[in-house]
Amino acid sequence: MPESRTTMPTVDRKARLRLPAEPAAKQPAAERVRNWNEVFLGFDAEAARREAQRCLQCPAAPCTKACPLGNDIAAALWRIEHADPVGAADVFRETSNLPEVCGRVCPQEKLCEGSCVVGLKGKATPVQIGKLEQYCTDLQRATTGIPVPEVARTGAPVAVVGAGPAGLAAAEELAKSGHPVTVYDRWPLPGGTLRYGIPSFKLSKAVLDAKIAQLRAMGVTFVPERTLGRDLDVAALRADGFAAVFLGYGASAGNRLEIEGQDLPGVLLATDFLVRANLPPTHLPNDRRRPLAVGERVVVIGGGDTAADCVRSAIRLGAREVTWAYRRTEAEMPGRAEERQYARDEGVRIEFLAAPLRVLGVHGAGRVAGVELARMELSEPDASGRRGVRPVAGGEFTVAADTVVVATGYHVDEAATAAVRGLATRTGAIVMAETETGRTSIPGVYAGGDATTGPRLVATAVAAGRRAARAIHEDLAAAPRSEHSGSEAPRAMHGGHAGVHWSAHPLPPPVGALRRPRPEEGGVGALLDQWIDDLRFSNTQEGD
Ligand SMILES: Cc1cc2nc3c(=O)[nH]c(=O)nc-3n(C[C@H](O)[C@H](O)[C@H](O)COP(=O)(O)OP(=O)(O)OC[C@H]3O[C@@H](n4cnc5c(N)ncnc54)[C@H](O)[C@@H]3O)c2cc1C
Ligand code: SF4
Repeated sequence: MPESRTTMPTVDRKARLRLPAEPAAKQPAAERVRNWNEVFLGFDAEAARREAQRCLQCPAAPCTKACPLGNDIAAALWRIEHADPVGAADVFRETSNLPEVCGRVCPQEKLCEGSCVVGLKGKATPVQIGKLEQYCTDLQRATTGIPVPEVARTGAPVAVVGAGPAGLAAAEELAKSGHPVTVYDRWPLPGGTLRYGIPSFKLSKAVLDAKIAQLRAMGVTFVPERTLGRDLDVAALRADGFAAVFLGYGASAGNRLEIEGQDLPGVLLATDFLVRANLPPTHLPNDRRRPLAVGERVVVIGGGDTAADCVRSAIRLGAREVTWAYRRTEAEMPGRAEERQYARDEGVRIEFLAAPLRVLGVHGAGRVAGVELARMELSEPDASGRRGVRPVAGGEFTVAADTVVVATGYHVDEAATAAVRGLATRTGAIVMAETETGRTSIPGVYAGGDATTGPRLVATAVAAGRRAARAIHEDLAAAPRSEHSGSEAPRAMHGGHAGVHWSAHPLPPPVGALRRPRPEEGGVGALLDQWIDDLRFSNTQEGD
């Protein structure tokens, strides 16, 4: 066993600050554009040990505070440094259900690594936390396997709708607490956006498959091709004996451009494009199995990581000219700088300050021929400090295209939310749920992940699934068993006030910690106002 951090000798921080960052071996661009394998080739044991040694073991651990999951990063890196990578993986698994995924796809520069003291103080490359998280969890998977906790089926059955990161995390935590868990999803295979969104060159499907296998080994049941609102109903699940239902159906409905030519054949929304580009037809529903022929010239519109995934997928599909159009400058681009660099290295041409005006069609052929774009310029900052854009007079120009991909963000599918009668929502589709517990307006129904926030991150969805699982377990443990199932009429949050239309309330400001209102705190109005004040919501949309 390695020395624990409490008994570790004081590290020489000054000396550690001078240690160089370990080079990350990557597939060369010319090679990787011919395959769908991951770019980073992984650290070996020595490289990982040297990189972990750069950690200053700061007692305040700002990296942990910046991690949505609160991973004990210093403890894990200490184990890697002391030749115990499997122990390090277990440290990550204490607080995260998908460390092998987060190590690959988290925007670390804005989270853990963005707060790393080595980067801030030493003005050097921050410790490569994500790559070390990937290293130790990959090594564990390849050697001892992902640990399968022994579970005793002592709890009440719980249904999970949505097999993305939020649903998978909730399922695992519930199973660990003894609940038989059934996960329903509309797609043929579990994984959510991890499978049907994020391309394999960022996250190998084998990594996800191993995680699903572990959950199955824990007794979690997956039921594919069940769509909420079509062949899946929350009240029916409750009536069928599920003591609680967790909703984790994400926010994967693609935003449209709403410009002329949007519906021409050859114009695709990012979701549709990425699933068909990245997966064999047998992993797709019947209506999406048609092979994707992108042609020679592809234009992708949008600014976020999804747009980066699309341009890089287009290159791998054989397009010769891939143009990425974004209406602001690089400084405003919401996606990761690393992904942009990969795209550039792979031959993508980025057009900044270019906004789509209309999609052009081939005369008489009813197919896309190109995109007319307006050259933009930045305007003065508004009250919030954000600079807008305005068109430059006479700056219109055209880019020829055989395929146009629209990657301008995602939203929660209104049809899914509307299918759950009595569910309090914000803006009609985003599910209102307590941040700390995932409780919704319907007793016994919980929610988390993108469905409750709008598009966010894998790590935030995992965190929400974990919080909801804890609350579900506590609520079920506290409730008499006879109350576990049933088709109760929906109520307004947990105050028990039928008929309150939550969507009519203004968006609550972000305020402090949540707590559950008590009836003695006032009448219906006071209770609801208090409740709204206590809710913490935020919603970041990417890609505009
Ligand atoms: C292309 C793309 C790239 C991304 N890249 C990154 C990245 O690099 N890093 C990062 O941190 N985040 C990234 N994200 C965001 C991240 O994937 C999401 O924030 C995260 O997956 C949300 O998890 P979730 O479980 O809430 O939802 P999802 O992953 O969307 O899972 C929801 C699940 O619910 C199912 N579902 C939906 N509707 C229904 C219904 N009506 N009935 C039954 N099932 C339903 C879906 O099929 C899906 O399996 C990316 C997103 C996209 C789209
Ligand atoms: S989960 Fe994400 S933010 Fe947290 S340590 Fe891992 S890579 Fe960093």
